[in-house]
Amino acid sequence: MRTEPSGTAQGDASPMKNVVIVGGGTSGWMAAAALARIVPPTVSITLVESDDIGVIGVGEATIPTLMEFNDFLGLKENDVLRECRGTLKLGIEFVDWLRKGDSYFHPFGFYGRDTPEFAFHQLWLRLRHLSATGEAPADAAGDIGDYNLCTVAARLGRFSPPQGSDDAILSTTRHAYHIDSTLYARMLRRYAEAKGVRRTEGMVVGTQRNPTTGNIQSVTLRNGTILAADLFIDCSGFRSLLLGDTLGSEFVDWSHYLPCDRALAVPTAPNGAPPPFTRAMADRGGWRWRIPLQHRTGNGYVYSSAFIDQDEAERKLIEGADGEPLADCRPLRFRTGHRRRFWQKNCVAIGLSGGFIEPLESTSIHLAQMGVQRLVNLWPGRGFNEAETAYYNRLMTADYERIRDFIVLHYSATERDDSEFWRHVGSMAIPDTLAAKLDMFRFSGRIIPSPDDLFTAHSWLAVMLGQGVVPQSYDALLDRVPANALIHNMRLLKDGVAKTAAALPGHQDYIDRNCRAP
Ligand code: FAD
Repeated sequence: MRTEPSGTAQGDASPMKNVVIVGGGTSGWMAAAALARIVPPTVSITLVESDDIGVIGVGEATIPTLMEFNDFLGLKENDVLRECRGTLKLGIEFVDWLRKGDSYFHPFGFYGRDTPEFAFHQLWLRLRHLSATGEAPADAAGDIGDYNLCTVAARLGRFSPPQGSDDAILSTTRHAYHIDSTLYARMLRRYAEAKGVRRTEGMVVGTQRNPTTGNIQSVTLRNGTILAADLFIDCSGFRSLLLGDTLGSEFVDWSHYLPCDRALAVPTAPNGAPPPFTRAMADRGGWRWRIPLQHRTGNGYVYSSAFIDQDEAERKLIEGADGEPLADCRPLRFRTGHRRRFWQKNCVAIGLSGGFIEPLESTSIHLAQMGVQRLVNLWPGRGFNEAETAYYNRLMTADYERIRDFIVLHYSATERDDSEFWRHVGSMAIPDTLAAKLDMFRFSGRIIPSPDDLFTAHSWLAVMLGQGVVPQSYDALLDRVPANALIHNMRLLKDGVAKTAAALPGHQDYIDRNCRAP
């Protein structure tokens, strides 16, 4: 996690003394832990959470950026995995998204090797072209996944963290975790409390605002306790108690792009060796997830209530779950979109209170992390400054919009027309920003991610190809690469990836040796 000085504050120039965080889910404890690690000891941090309300309790799949957050706190990977009964994740397998019976893998890590001149996938596109014109054997190019170590290792159920120098194939892998998010929050709580964060149990029932500035002055708990602060961090989940209810930051609704609005979650007992990846299986009215942990498998169904009802979703979830349910199905409701201002007055919303995009690419915890990181980068230690607040809001909005586009791609590029839901998402209007990306890729195979885009060109490539979006051509500059050299080198690389993957330890063995929970 980057930290930068907060710069000179204008406006209200009183120094920060007290911070109140409302909410003790993953977001609340991430914020508490990070602030406890970085802010001066003169700042007192209190976190209030309500046992009566509890936490949302889902959010088990992560992406590689969480490593940066854990590094910032000084938490070691194997300790996190052991404590949170975690497994390793090399990517996501998408089943039945393009059409029924089809699947593809969105890996972390790289396809081949990009050079300053060419993106690797342009070489692959040219090789396909050579096969089509009879200048290379028909199977010369193969699947793009054959050039990605995460994909091949995942197919074999094997795992290794990246190793070796930059030219080693094993250096191209990347990974994330599947974790029990309740245990992760507990770990962060212990960390934060050890660094002086005060935790209060209680339900916030009221807020008081300064009549002149409109800032939040204090929150009142049901037992009458009043907690005053200079800065309030709203981590109250979908309730958005402070930013939404008290300050009225408008909700920007994206249901027209992403119509899923319900989920059901159910754990099952572990069933054999855990695969080192998340599975996302498209279904009649949405999709199902399967997330392996050491002690259970998380299963869920994300669906649109406009297209199927809860009974059918529950039946489909249980039928498709990975074993006998360990509990009843838990229903959840959500709205896709975000608060127009994530930071308003002296209140910053982090986590679900700021917005939500369905968990298809496991991005929510990452968005909470970005909220915390940017708050640290713009720490209002000497007061609030409108330019900084506006900058924070622009950055967070851009994060949400880019992730939205990426998620919409999975739906809009489907060929499925076997249910009303799929006919709807396959024909809906898509954001202009996504349409432009698709046009460029179809024409020349070029992918130019926006600066700061969470998803690299490799991610876009995986999902565009997986969803059947295939370029009509390749970068013409590649015509100067001799065909024979291309055929030879691509075969060497493919063989190298296959051999490297086959030599890796099994995922279960890796866990047993490094991070098995007692
Ligand atoms: P919550 O966990 O809801 O916490 C809210 C906190 O606020 C609680 O402590 C609650 O007690 C407190 N609170 C609320 N009101 C009051 C009050 N009045 N007084 C006092 N305290 C109060 N994310 C991922 O990254 N990966 C995933 O795989 C993933 N899967 C998901 C699947 C589904 C179906 C859904 C809906 C979400 C998923 N998420 C996922 C998102 C993830 O669950 C959240 O980002 C994460 O749990 C953080 O939630 P939170 O802390 O913002 O809110």
